[in-house]
Amino acid sequence: MKNQQLLLNDIAAEIKYCRKCRLHEAACQGVPGEGDPSADILFIGEAPGKNEDLSGRPFVGSAGKFLDSMLNGIGLARTDVFIANIVKHRPPKNRAPKPDEIQACTPYLDSQIKIIKPKIIIPMGQHATNYILSRTGADFQNISAARGKLYERVWLGRQVIIMPIYHPAASLYSPKYKAAIKEDFQKIQALMQECQREYKVNK
Ligand code: SF4
Repeated sequence: MKNQQLLLNDIAAEIKYCRKCRLHEAACQGVPGEGDPSADILFIGEAPGKNEDLSGRPFVGSAGKFLDSMLNGIGLARTDVFIANIVKHRPPKNRAPKPDEIQACTPYLDSQIKIIKPKIIIPMGQHATNYILSRTGADFQNISAARGKLYERVWLGRQVIIMPIYHPAASLYSPKYKAAIKEDFQKIQALMQECQREYKVNK
């Protein structure tokens, strides 16, 4: 059987030539996601932006730098986690992805989750959280109400902990959001430590 990285490479190759929705038309390239192919923690954003579209990598602009600093602050590097988006091509003028685009694209994310098998999923922002919580049957009102809460759900046949946070781009516009994201990263660190303890006990 192929290892996890090779399976993720196969998905990235499919995304490169994907024409299942209109988003590929204005984008430079697909942005499948990157990181540890067996990461315990998966961060999911909404869609690639301009810098991501140009580089083919997720979260490389100002919001990405903030995300990196948050990860570093809890002792993680980008290579310790996996970072992806719910849609893989950049929507024109950074508009929100439409429901039919999300429907067309999210089988790629589902396949990535089945391969990576993360224990913790962190949706970032309104659209990613709405998609993930509604897929797992959880009630979703808005990101302000959901952020920082823990949802223990079964998704794609596995038990996962989902903890939504504000999108890192929100930190660029308001100190209030920046403070909330910092607070939520402390919770992520505690969650990681708890998962590692459980893993040792169950081993
Ligand atoms: S956004 Fe997703 S579904 Fe649409 S063309 Fe790109 S990879 Fe395919």
